[in-house]
Amino acid sequence: MTDINAVSSDPGHGPAMDDALWKKYDRPVPRYTSYPTAPHFTGAVDEATYRGWLAALSADTPLSLYLHVPYCRTLCWYCGCSTRATTSHRPVANYAALLETEIATLASALERRRSITHLHWGGGTPTILREEEITRLMDGIARHFDIAADAELAIEIDPRTITPAYARTLAATGINRVSLGVQDFDPRVQQAINRVQPFEVTARAVDAFRAAGIDAVNFDLMYGLPHQSVEGAVRSAELAASLSPSRVALFGYAHVPWMRAHQRLIRDEDLPDARTRFLQAQGAGEKLVEQGYRRIGLDHFAHETDSLYRQTEDGSLSRNFQGYTTDTAPALIGLGASAIGELPQGFAQNTADVAAYGKAVREGRLPVTRGIARSDEDRLRWQVIERLMCTLEADLEAVLAEHGRAADHLDRCLPALAELEEDGLLERNGRRLRVTEAGRPFVRLAAAAFDEYLDRGAGRHSRAV
Ligand code: SF4
Repeated sequence: MTDINAVSSDPGHGPAMDDALWKKYDRPVPRYTSYPTAPHFTGAVDEATYRGWLAALSADTPLSLYLHVPYCRTLCWYCGCSTRATTSHRPVANYAALLETEIATLASALERRRSITHLHWGGGTPTILREEEITRLMDGIARHFDIAADAELAIEIDPRTITPAYARTLAATGINRVSLGVQDFDPRVQQAINRVQPFEVTARAVDAFRAAGIDAVNFDLMYGLPHQSVEGAVRSAELAASLSPSRVALFGYAHVPWMRAHQRLIRDEDLPDARTRFLQAQGAGEKLVEQGYRRIGLDHFAHETDSLYRQTEDGSLSRNFQGYTTDTAPALIGLGASAIGELPQGFAQNTADVAAYGKAVREGRLPVTRGIARSDEDRLRWQVIERLMCTLEADLEAVLAEHGRAADHLDRCLPALAELEEDGLLERNGRRLRVTEAGRPFVRLAAAAFDEYLDRGAGRHSRAV
């Protein structure tokens, strides 16, 4: 059993100081998977805008695809994704046919055949698709696009749905990375989040993927869950590491019942307080580091064999709606209900209403209903925010020079960092910023200093940690 006191006895970061900091900075801030963030999207971006953006992509722009499947067999109560539960396969089969049509419509809007360097299936539960459905969809993508030989083709997995045959089918379609939802191995926590998934189920799924030849395995773990203890979060990290995933994401549960009605099934009084969340994040993170993983950005851990590790080393790590990513394509195309695309000109989101999505796709339209165009100011601020989120460092003068702006252009943001500096969470040398190791959990607060939209009132965000 892990010694929790050892976890929190680091001089200068001891429980008393951390406890105070945790309370002080327990504020809602965006997760910064984009800038401007999704609550600022409006109906000003529609299908016509999006088609114009697609047509303006240069001939040799490689693409990244994100495909969303908004169905699950049951709902996990912590879930923050755009999904719905279904016990019937009929809506899933109908949806698969719509996706196939949307892929063809999108390909024709691009005018010329493009190369795909990255593909990600997310949800919902993409593996709710039957083997023949996902095979047909992957074949459809290959008919319309050239999939690069070294493309990363990834899919999010619910281990409860995986069989060895399904794993082999995914491998046969070219899928080469799987991301398994795990969260926590404690049965009491699993009951409280309506996701009962014993350790053996996860272990069998990992074995099935490895036997099928898919060695790039990600795990998603969570802290801040109902009834979760510090010891339990650390033990879950240890059990996860025993299965040797190449990458682990450790997310804080975002309790936003005003946005996700099913989260009301999680009682406020069963949730850990800010101090416990802190100790869970710290303890689970230290356990992963002890097991040979390197910390990446805010909440990821990677083994040295993983591409995320390598891109952190060479400074090319980036961030998009899937979180930290090795995706380097300049244009990300979203397919499926609620999917978000990111083009050089801005963000475009498909309608989340599955019925409206189906109607648009059947009529040969691209189902984009909202988004936001990015200004030059947005681009330069995103570069600062993304560098902070990925490398914990930002050289403001270098970024501003790249964008042809005066060196003091962002100086008005600096006073907002003073509090973090005073608390030893950030160091500033002129216009060079570095978030300290103690400040890593608070990096979103440093990024928020450069967010011009934060005070404009759209959306409520999850807590900073
Ligand atoms: S966490 Fe995953 S499996 Fe659970 S409801 Fe959400 S999308 Fe579905």
